Amino acid sequence: MENFTFYNPTKLVFGKGQMENLKTFIPAHSKNILIVYGGGSIKKNGVYDKVVEELTSLNLNIHELAGVEPNPRLATVKKGAEICKRENVDFILAVGGGSVIDCTKTISAAAKYDGDPWDFVTKKARPEDAVPFGTVLTLAATGSEMNAGAVITNWETNEKYGWGSPLLFPQFSILDPENTYTVPENQTVYGIVDMMTHIFEQYFHQPTYSPVQDRMCEGVLQSIIETAPKLLEDLESYDHRETILYAGTIALNGMLQMGYKGDWATHNIEHAVSAVYDIPHAGGLAILFPNWMKHNVEVNTERFKQLAVRVFHVDPAEKSDEQIALEGINELRKFWDSLGAPNRLADYDIDESKFDQIAEHAIFNGAFGNFHKLEKDDVLEILRKSL
Ligand code: NAP
Ligand code: FE
Repeated sequence: MENFTFYNPTKLVFGKGQMENLKTFIPAHSKNILIVYGGGSIKKNGVYDKVVEELTSLNLNIHELAGVEPNPRLATVKKGAEICKRENVDFILAVGGGSVIDCTKTISAAAKYDGDPWDFVTKKARPEDAVPFGTVLTLAATGSEMNAGAVITNWETNEKYGWGSPLLFPQFSILDPENTYTVPENQTVYGIVDMMTHIFEQYFHQPTYSPVQDRMCEGVLQSIIETAPKLLEDLESYDHRETILYAGTIALNGMLQMGYKGDWATHNIEHAVSAVYDIPHAGGLAILFPNWMKHNVEVNTERFKQLAVRVFHVDPAEKSDEQIALEGINELRKFWDSLGAPNRLADYDIDESKFDQIAEHAIFNGAFGNFHKLEKDDVLEILRKSL
């Protein structure tokens, strides 16, 4: 195992009816609150009304930033930071999915900074202060509700990067599975793919001796695989929404990372793709991840074999390690296909024309990935395999 320090101060408030406790988590001294949300799903499903009802009883000045886009943009972060500065906002509440939360995180730091918030995303500056914030999560996917990372797109330069700071942990996150009932089928599938790839990104690392972490990762993966088809049959099943919501948080709140270095190469390539084509994050991952796997199967075949046998129940009898490993990857592909996830870049009308730009972007900070360092040529090969 790698040495590690585990730290996660986010209060996780999970379960049916937990929205009714929202007001107890808003700091008592808050006077000016900013609610941040997306394109309107929370107005259609009643979550907005519940939030406002809770906050109204607190006698706060309520400000709003609506319209955070999926793949949240720097321009929207700047808008939010301006409101915070102008209105002396002392608490921010994100109500939505990962995009709304990531945007809120970056606003919270930008509100206490005189420079361009892009400096944080490109790691030219580190925040020294941030406006505290909490979240009401409405979509199971990213784990952003309980981690200190955020992903922001600069649409003017076609760049998308993840960044982080200990200041970006939400103070609390309210996760009521009923708030996810209205997530449409396609977004539900994207969420499932995203959380699975978060586990893979941690699981595929070197060296690999971490038996407790391995079993934890494999257990969460198996629960997702067992639950996903049942959830798609009944999008308003409380039990299945609950399982998937919980899995998404556990997948990326640091619990599965302990003792692992993690890889994160495929996320890096996906960010480079969606910075140019603005496709859903997990749509890109569903296409790229199996091809990253095939590209790296020889790096540590044993690792892929373990996943194949333990999670995808591949029968190892009379097969070479590589055959077993490849069968596991095919089982993953088949599973995502069965959910209706995209499997080729052509599904998004993406051809080879911008591969060079994407690969350059992916190697912005040099060769990347911990399982196996990828150079530009590796990125191009994975992209070509994904056509
Ligand atoms: P999202 O972009 O936040 O939301 C996707 C869509 O789902 C939006 O159109 C949203 O509509 C809708 N939606 C959300 N909740 C809904 C509900 N309850 N009912 C109906 N529709 C609902 O999706 P996401 O997958 O959570 O976040 C993706 C972003 O997170 C990407 O930018 C990705 O790069 C990033 N990411 C971050 C991390 C991290 O750790 N910070 C990890 C992985 C990925 P409205 O806009 O109308 O609400
Ligand atoms: Fe992700």
